[in-house]
Formats: sequence, structure tokens, C-alpha cells
Amino acid sequence: MKKITLLGSTGSIGTQALEVLDYLDEYEVLALAAGKNVRLLCAQIEKYRPKRVCIQKQEDVQLVKSKFPQVEVLWGLDGLMELCSDTQNDIILVATSGKIGLKPTLRAIENKINIALANKETLVMAGEIVMKKAKENNVKILPVDSEHSAILQCLSDKNNDPYKLIITASGGPFLNKTREEMGKSNALEALKHPRWHMGRKITIDSATLMNKGLEVIEAHYLFNMDYKDIKVVIHPQSLVHSFVEFIDGSMLAQVGFPSMHIPIQYALTYPKRHKGIKTDGFSLFGQTMTFEKPDLDKFRCLKMAYEAGLDGTSSLVVLNAANEVAVNNFLEGKIHFLDIEKTVEKALLEHNTIKNLTIDEILELDLETRKRYAK
Ligand code: NDP
Repeated sequence: MKKITLLGSTGSIGTQALEVLDYLDEYEVLALAAGKNVRLLCAQIEKYRPKRVCIQKQEDVQLVKSKFPQVEVLWGLDGLMELCSDTQNDIILVATSGKIGLKPTLRAIENKINIALANKETLVMAGEIVMKKAKENNVKILPVDSEHSAILQCLSDKNNDPYKLIITASGGPFLNKTREEMGKSNALEALKHPRWHMGRKITIDSATLMNKGLEVIEAHYLFNMDYKDIKVVIHPQSLVHSFVEFIDGSMLAQVGFPSMHIPIQYALTYPKRHKGIKTDGFSLFGQTMTFEKPDLDKFRCLKMAYEAGLDGTSSLVVLNAANEVAVNNFLEGKIHFLDIEKTVEKALLEHNTIKNLTIDEILELDLETRKRYAK
């Protein structure tokens, strides 16, 4: 049996990963880590019987311990770090939201544990350091994001390097709205994603197209491609999850039902494939596929992500942090939808690029930026 730890087991990706594991008999759950949803974590302990768990707050430790005296209960960042130090793990799924996943991911890499990576911040904030460390330790960083999983699948022929990566984007709930209409939209409208059911932060990022920008940055690090060779195409049906173009002009695409179960499973069974939850559910009959150029004047977050990527690490940290606080401000009704991009724009303008940041400097800059732009 292979052993796995899931960070963020109570989230959208975490719960779907456990559903995937229900269909794979080769895995044993070694540990689970949640944030504040102690009730769901307890239900998961009951079902998956991990040896150790981690929760965000110390005050919840006793509650879990009283229900499961045989389970070791850790908490906070130190707890996550400890789970990632356990070399019994064959793979760790990093599906926490936000920056909390960064240090634990690095710890797992140092311990030569392969990573199934959902958390975007890890690569956006510190892609260079993470990929360098992974290479040094011969660790696989297997993408869980459907677009990067699609690219990985299209690259399974190791004889040919990619010429261009073409990342698909559904366009989100505001694809056909004007900027004026977008400006008047509230959180409820922005959270209505036409194709995917995801956590709140990533759903708002999909409405601004910042999510696609973050994916471009992730793709740059994961596949070592220049930004000029990573393109975005709007594909509202979300059936093609991305393309790879080769030097002869041929393009490979990965196509499938828009479900995160498939990319999660591929990361866990890589390089093999298994029959999974929805293997028989998708038919091409009656499907339409359309592709359009993204409007970078309408969706400025995507443009800013490209620019920050070209500028380097410190701009990426500022882009990510300013965006995250702006999304929170919007979800809490404190700013309008278009103020998200304005906040990021202001943060980038007010920032002077710094080169070669360490992880601690990255986290410090992240904190500073959050404090500065939070309402
Ligand atoms: P959710 O908000 O649904 O879940 C986040 C998970 O992280 C929850 O388990 C939450 O715990 C946990 N968590 C949050 N803060 C902390 C903390 N401080 N300490 C420990 N655990 C914490 O997010 P998603 O599942 O949607 O996304 C997770 C990551 O994957 C994000 O980075 C996202 O960008 C990325 N991603 C998501 C996709 C999707 O389809 N959802 C697709 C591709 C990437 P709790 O709920 O218990 O508080």
C-alpha cells in the first residue's frame, strides 16, 4: 500500500481527493490536515482512520482527541510541518488554500516526498525555489490543477519538448458582461461559476481571470517555459483542459468532462491511469467547442499576472497577496468587483522589485502587502 497525507482534506479539492481514494485500493491515508472544519475532519477520521491529523487552532485539539484518543492530533503550521516530515509518505496532496501550504511543501520536498500540488500560492510565490529544491531532491511535483494536469498528459511523449503551452479558460461568470455590468456585480453573482464548483477564493479569481494568470505563472515554473510561449484561450465549454503545441505545428489536447476527480486521480496514479469515479460518464456527441482570444483590456488581472511574471519573484508575491486581500475585501462587501484589479494594480505600482528573495523574505513581503491593502 502507498501512503498519503492530505493537507486541506476538508476543502473542495481535499474532499474530492478522498472520493478519488475511495476508488483506488492502492492507497492508505496516513494523515489528514484541516483548517477550522473540525466536524468534517472528525467524520473523515471515522472513515479513513489516519494515524495523525492536524487542525488550524490549538483550542480544537482537545475536542478531536476526546473523540479519537488513538489519533495523534497536531495543530497549526508546526503540525503541518511535522506531517510533511514523515518519510513514510509516498505522496502528499497539498490542497490547503493560501500561503500556509508553502513551508510544509518545502519540508516534504526536503524529505524527498513527492507532491500532488493543488495550492497555487506555492508556485506563484516561490516557484523558482520550490522547483529548484524539487530537482535537487529528485522529487516529483505533480499538478492537480486541471489545466496543468492536461499539459502533463499531453507531454507524456518524452521525446519531444513543447513549443507552446495553450491554457484554456472558461471565461468565468462575466465572460459576456461589459465592464460596467461587472463593476455593479455582487459576490453572489461573481460566485456563480458556469462550469466548476470550487472554493470561494478561486471562484472569484475565475471571475476576474486572475486564476488564469496564476495558472500561467504556475505553468512557467512547472514546465520551464517562457511567458511568451504560454498562451491563454477562452473556451467556455471547459471540455479541452489545455493544449500543447509542438515544433511541427501539431497540437495535442486533453479533453474530458469538467471534473476535478480526473486530474486529482492522475496526480495520484501518475504515470498510470485507473478507472475512476466518472470514467463512463462523458460523451462527445452533441458537444460544441469554441475558442476565443481573451480580452486583456476587460480582464486586466490576467494582463497584470503576465507582467508580474516577467518582472520576477517580488512582484509575484505582491500580486498574489494584494489579490487575496482584495478578494476577501470584495467577499466581505467592502469593495466593488472592479476594485479587486485596482487594488492589485496599485500594489504593483507602489512596489519596487527586489531580486533573489529567500522564503522568509517572501513571507515577510506577503504579510506586509496584506496589511497594507486589507480593509
Ligand atoms: P477550499 O477553500 O475549498 O479548501 C481549503 C482547504 O484548506 C480547507 O481544507 C481548509 O480547511 C484548509 N485551510 C485553509 N486555511 C488553513 C490553515 N491556515 N491551516 C490549515 N488548513 C487550512 O479551497 P479549494 O479546495 O478550492 O482550493 C485549495 C487550493 O487548490 C487553492 O490554492 C486553489 O487555488 C487550488 N485549486 C483548487 C481547485 C478547485 O477546483 N477547487 C482547482 C485547482 C486548484 P477548513 O475548510 O477546515 O477551514
